[in-house]
Amino acid sequence: MFHKILSMTKNILIGMKTVGYHFFRKPLTECFPEQKPNLPHRFRGRLALRKDENNKITCIGCKTCMGVCPAGAIDIETERDENNKNIIKKFNVNMGKCILCGNCEYFCPQKAIVLTKEIDIAACDKEELEFNINKLLLSQKESSKTLKRKYNV
Ligand code: SF4
Ligand code: SF4
Repeated sequence: MFHKILSMTKNILIGMKTVGYHFFRKPLTECFPEQKPNLPHRFRGRLALRKDENNKITCIGCKTCMGVCPAGAIDIETERDENNKNIIKKFNVNMGKCILCGNCEYFCPQKAIVLTKEIDIAACDKEELEFNINKLLLSQKESSKTLKRKYNV
């Protein structure tokens, strides 16, 4: 009987020690989305298009990104102007299809398409995951910040 009481007390004390340890410890979880997670430097979030220092889109409409996308998530339509330059008529990314592999960013000759650190893009409607050029374009300030973060230039 005495041994039983001793063993029970010991187990209770061990349990209380574990509870006490976790009670005063910094939580491992984060209250997302109120609290934004501190994402690693090379995190791959939703796609965006960069502008240059003159506030112009850096994309030249070469469609390389569309060709290397394994998910068929990019849809670009272009036309030629009188100087034989591409005019982008349509630039859509379906974030519902995108697997965030980073191929488009890696192969883009202009560093125009970039994976941002934005993760909060969940939607109830599939159409909300279709990002057109207006939704994809970053501001000039965000563009240069992203370029610095990604390529240190
Ligand atoms: S984002 Fe880059 S790879 Fe894609 S069309 Fe524009 S310049 Fe070409
Ligand atoms: S990150 Fe990968 S899957 Fe997503 S659009 Fe770019 S190439 Fe396609």
